[in-house]
Amino acid sequence: MRVEAGAATDIGKVRERNEDSFLADPPLFAVADGIGGHRGGEVASQLALEILEQMSTNGKETLAERVRQANRAVFERSQADRQVTGMGTTLTAVLVQDAGVHLAHVGDSRAYLLRAGSLRQLTEDHTLVARMVETGEITTDEAEIHPHRNVLTRALGTEPDVRVDEQEVPLIEGDRLLLCSDGLTGMVTEAQIQAILEASVSPQEASDRLIKAANRAGGVDNITVVVLEVRDDAATESPAGDSAAAAHVPLPSGRTVRRSLIWLAVVIVVVAAGLFTGRAYLDGQWYVGVAQGRVAVYRGIPAAALGLHLSHTVFVSDVPATGAAALPLYANIADGLPAKDHDDAFAIVEQIRKDIAASDAGGPSAGGSP
Ligand code: MN
Repeated sequence: MRVEAGAATDIGKVRERNEDSFLADPPLFAVADGIGGHRGGEVASQLALEILEQMSTNGKETLAERVRQANRAVFERSQADRQVTGMGTTLTAVLVQDAGVHLAHVGDSRAYLLRAGSLRQLTEDHTLVARMVETGEITTDEAEIHPHRNVLTRALGTEPDVRVDEQEVPLIEGDRLLLCSDGLTGMVTEAQIQAILEASVSPQEASDRLIKAANRAGGVDNITVVVLEVRDDAATESPAGDSAAAAHVPLPSGRTVRRSLIWLAVVIVVVAAGLFTGRAYLDGQWYVGVAQGRVAVYRGIPAAALGLHLSHTVFVSDVPATGAAALPLYANIADGLPAKDHDDAFAIVEQIRKDIAASDAGGPSAGGSP
């Protein structure tokens, strides 16, 4: 099987750093979206892909074993270096084989297969909202706009061991495979993604156009895509003995900041809402953030990054913010964790307190389920 590849990563329009990374090193392809304060996100996504790449050159290990080693490496670095404590990353990777790919996946980056005019998501998002959809609490439409939609239930590097989703994906000529970070899927609909994949003459053109589309839609997060296209072996000469791939892409990789997609979208809504209701809208918004180094309840929205002051502190708890930020679920607390209302905000503070106590006690669910 011959595969042609394209890849691209972009900081987007809002973030200060690119915490995404990609790997396009045939027969191995991957995207990773880092999480964590300071430079943690960048370090995590790059380190995970470095480990994956090193192993591809010598490896007898399965892809899932490589992913678990990458997990351990990120976890150990995060334990050893206080600057990057609590960092983690998503990882969606494929290894091209004779008649398809082996896919390994952790987090909320995604793999899609475009075949015969239909686009199918191959991976499952390891997010709180995906779980809520599964249990019927919310619909998929509600999940797309849910304030907690980027809270991960599983990530690489946040625990000593990680459960890795794996599958074999048989491929046929003409198939296109897309790996992408949530900076694409958060901005661009699946219909648009499909249209771009179908209209592009090469995987690299598709990659560049997908990035452009996400930026045109707001580029709220870092955007990373890898596109693979299965070509006919016979039609073009493939290098002898290379069953895998001919990729025309630069080697890794990307970089950058946080993953809280949400706030820019909220700001846009507020600006729109402001035309009608002004202040009343802000007063109805609640979130949990950090004040004076402690977990705090805010009213309004955390838009300080845009130079606006659209919130005020309602309550400062005695829960240390560093304790919360060290848990994967609350790694983004400095950016604000959205709450439904006053009571929900206070409930989140209490949940954080409990989760910190559980993790201090060495409980198994350190930052696991909310
Ligand atoms: Mn992201």
